[in-house]
Amino acid sequence: MTETFKREIYLLRPKKLSPETIAVTFAKTSRSPLSFREIAAELSDEQSSEFHEKWVVGYGHASVAEHAVLHIAFENVSRLAIECIESNRLASYTEKSTRYQKWDLKGYCIPEEVRGTQYESLYTDACDALFSAYQESLEPVKAVVQEMIPQREGESDARWDGRIRSEYVDACRFLLPAASLANVGMTANARTFEHAIRKMLSHPLEEVRSIGEQVKAVARQETPTLVKYAERVPYQIETQKALEERAGALPAASGGEMLELLAYDQGAEMRVLAAALYTQSGCSFVTALEHVRSLDAEAQKSLAHELLGRLEKFDVPLRAVEHAVYTFDAIMDQGAYFELKRHRMMTQTPQILRADLGYAVPRKIAQAGFESRYREAMDQAAEAYSRLAEWNPHVAAYLVPNGFNRRVLMTLNLREVFHFCELRAERNAHFSIRRIAMRMAEMVQSVHPLLAAYLRMPEEETWGSIEVEHFTQV
Ligand SMILES: Cc1cc2nc3c(=O)[nH]c(=O)nc-3n(C[C@H](O)[C@H](O)[C@H](O)COP(=O)(O)OP(=O)(O)OC[C@H]3O[C@@H](n4cnc5c(N)ncnc54)[C@H](O)[C@@H]3O)c2cc1C
Repeated sequence: MTETFKREIYLLRPKKLSPETIAVTFAKTSRSPLSFREIAAELSDEQSSEFHEKWVVGYGHASVAEHAVLHIAFENVSRLAIECIESNRLASYTEKSTRYQKWDLKGYCIPEEVRGTQYESLYTDACDALFSAYQESLEPVKAVVQEMIPQREGESDARWDGRIRSEYVDACRFLLPAASLANVGMTANARTFEHAIRKMLSHPLEEVRSIGEQVKAVARQETPTLVKYAERVPYQIETQKALEERAGALPAASGGEMLELLAYDQGAEMRVLAAALYTQSGCSFVTALEHVRSLDAEAQKSLAHELLGRLEKFDVPLRAVEHAVYTFDAIMDQGAYFELKRHRMMTQTPQILRADLGYAVPRKIAQAGFESRYREAMDQAAEAYSRLAEWNPHVAAYLVPNGFNRRVLMTLNLREVFHFCELRAERNAHFSIRRIAMRMAEMVQSVHPLLAAYLRMPEEETWGSIEVEHFTQV
């Protein structure tokens, strides 16, 4: 390497350059022979803005906006609104946890749509009932957990509580409705934020639309040009309405299997093995596939072992594994769905949150002698939901507690199956999602035993044993 062509790797510091200037600096390397330092030195914020107006906005070279990254803090937004905020695949989030924190009595959102209407007291009464039941459940359920996990010698009460908190809060959280307020931090690039703002501005809920306006305003402080033209999208609004109308004719199913494997490709294992060989070879994919198919079962097994046998605890399978894809129709409690939705490497199509698929009863709630109080609050919420849903099903969804079941259609590849099932089956994960992860692993193993044998799942438990241990009703 000569001095002229010396390799250099360095940061463009956000403390020195605005996000829009960083984005232009990178974009200009496409046409300019100058170094990034030299390009950046020539740029002002105004020039960057002009560049973005011309190229990103004018010519639609939108990927340039990906180099401008923003960190936006959302406080006291409902968990229902968070579903929209967190629906962007190419973004990162961290939110207030229902497992490690407790909610205050009035920690819920009263949507603008119900304020001052005949539904306001119905709404607030149902929320108050849920939050009081939640608060009242904490001590008795904690006492059950304390029996199971005794205080260690010399351990302070605070430390003991810290050690067992998620064990009892995990059961009590079933009572918290989607109206519960939470905080979430979001990191994404300006292109993703533009997409997120458009989605928010086109949302059926007033709260989400107003969050969208606020996000746009704060994002413009940092990236004045890149999100400037994010507006509501008639396509999204009108298509959603049209589909709602058409779907109205379909009968709602009242129950079903926790997981139904709707689609997979019988030959996918061979395709994955062929793709793994293909990447290291000079042959066509068809040749690689014919070769893999021609191997006997032992040789195929040994090839699968070459591909997956060296995985250690934190290793991710090679990308060729993505060529096997599965579609599931799932029913899970809303608490589990709220965790599932964070898995960005799958396609999720949830149904609107409703209260007509029944609710789960955590065993610890029953053990604490709290079941009838729990059912009373859940039934009141369901009743209020039904009345509100006749008027506005989107607003009614605020009232649905975590314990109610929800349907979601998911399509994911085998690499994400490895990630999701292994992470969410871990002992420290919530039992609601553990049972989904373990059932999914079992189903994938039954159709693709050669590759799914390498899923690292807990051996001493099954989804069935988790269900029996943690629920009296699902
Ligand atoms: C025990 C436990 C406790 C948790 N507690 C909290 C909590 O308190 N608050 C909270 O907000 N969340 C919490 N989570 C959720 C967690 O932070 C993840 O958001 C969630 O598990 C999704 O996992 P993932 O991001 O690894 O997976 P996916 O989104 O499914 O992605 C799969 C993989 O793709 C890669 N990937 C995806 N997107 C990116 C990206 N943008 N950048 C780099 N790599 C990427 C990663 O390798 C990732 O593992 C908790 C999770 C667990 C298991």
